[in-house]
Amino acid sequence: MIRTLAFALALSASGAASAAPVKAVASITIIADMVHEVGGDLVEVQSIVGPNGDAHSYEAKPQDSKTLNESQIVFINGLGLDPWIEKLTTSSGFKGPLVVVTKGIKTHQFDEDGKQVTDPHAWQDLSNGQIYVTNIAKALCEVDTADCASFNDNATAYKAKLAALDADIKAKFAALPAANRQVITTHDAFGYFAKAYGLRFLAPEGFATEAEPSAAAIAKLVRQIKHDNITALFFENMSDNRVIEAIAAETGVRAGPPLYADALSNPDEPGATYLAMFKYNTDTLLKALAGK
Ligand SMILES: [Zn+2]
Repeated sequence: MIRTLAFALALSASGAASAAPVKAVASITIIADMVHEVGGDLVEVQSIVGPNGDAHSYEAKPQDSKTLNESQIVFINGLGLDPWIEKLTTSSGFKGPLVVVTKGIKTHQFDEDGKQVTDPHAWQDLSNGQIYVTNIAKALCEVDTADCASFNDNATAYKAKLAALDADIKAKFAALPAANRQVITTHDAFGYFAKAYGLRFLAPEGFATEAEPSAAAIAKLVRQIKHDNITALFFENMSDNRVIEAIAAETGVRAGPPLYADALSNPDEPGATYLAMFKYNTDTLLKALAGK
């Protein structure tokens, strides 16, 4: 009899632990990966923009509405990266919290064709990534209070990994000579990376990927590459890279492998997680810059 009761108690305890996971949605794969790190098995997260996808020019699919409607919480970057999701959440009938994970981040602005625009690519600095994680844990605690301690533990452990990688990357770039710090990429996605790690990124396209760069802007960049003897020219995993190809042909500089800018890669490629993306981008950049 006692044995039966113990068995019943064990059953009910395991039943409580395996309650249905929180259904979460993120606008981009980078945020989805962070939610996965914080939520573990307690959260099931999907990204609206897929691996190697471009958030700036994303066009909603009918399935997105269903995904949002069935979710309990939605995480977005904000800062003008993913404005389409707000309209989509409203039209889908989603009623849960819409969490802007960049809340509290010190942003910077760039001049784009005479207009001051806020740079949305805040994840490209690992200390900002830690703020994303804090915001994610706090929001998950609000929809699933019973599992809040787990979310906070996971967030603390993950933030320690981000901080360690941040210090490692800073040390690696600090060892580069000042003359070897210029990089060309497709669009202005690496402003936060540049500030955090002491590099200078130039791009033919502005913050968003939709606008075609002008012939004058491309010609100016070509002159600068030749003048400064810049050898680090990179594609991006989620962009239309025809302009970079044209610049490579014009300057004779060979374009390097794609950097992971606004999206993670597919699982079988080297940028499948936020941490992997940073390690890969750093190694790829260092190889090109050190070889100058
Ligand atoms: Zn971008």
